[in-house]
Amino acid sequence: MNTFDQLGLDTPFLQAINDMGFETPSEVQAKAIPLLLEKETDVVALAQTGTGKTAAFGFPMLQKIDNQSRQTQGLILSPTRELCLQITQELKNYAKYVKGLNVVAIYGGASINYQAKNVKKGAQILVATPGRMQDIIRRRMVDISKVEYCVLDEADEMLNMGFYEDITSILSNTPDDKCTWLFSATMPKEVSVIAKKFMYAPE
Ligand code: AMP
Repeated sequence: MNTFDQLGLDTPFLQAINDMGFETPSEVQAKAIPLLLEKETDVVALAQTGTGKTAAFGFPMLQKIDNQSRQTQGLILSPTRELCLQITQELKNYAKYVKGLNVVAIYGGASINYQAKNVKKGAQILVATPGRMQDIIRRRMVDISKVEYCVLDEADEMLNMGFYEDITSILSNTPDDKCTWLFSATMPKEVSVIAKKFMYAPE
């Protein structure tokens, strides 16, 4: 598939892609976008930073969630604050022509009350670092019990940084039947352990 209109994305997303000047889908986008749009399945994708992986999971997630509902339906975990903010900004750009779609970043070193206030307004997607996510869950400032799609971005990095326990604990607050999409630059044993523990027959 070498054009974006062949991937199954709705017009508002194609317009945003056009505005951003993306001409052809990258390899991970061409493989992941149609699969994630079509199937309710767990997926493991090997992709480095700079390959367009944010769009590979971002567009399918944005298209699949219900923007009429204020419920949190998508959760993206990423290892660092910088990446968390970058993903949030990208998703906002992708969704610029979709009304009522709110993406909120949850990361350490900034006001948790401010983040919680934004979540309360109705955030369908949360992009979070594991430590702050744990904190905001413990304080009951978010509800992730209805999450349908969960992305573990840079899973290898998150494990290197010692977030295994946090990830396990965060995921225990999400439904068992959600879809989990794991993106990682490398596939060390620890990442396969995560895939085995948290995913069902991933593609
Ligand atoms: P990522 O790998 O998701 O961090 O993306 C790296 C950069 O490439 C980001 O700045 C994206 O906006 C940009 N990008 C993603 N997909 C494409 C594409 N198909 N064509 C051109 N640029 C892209």
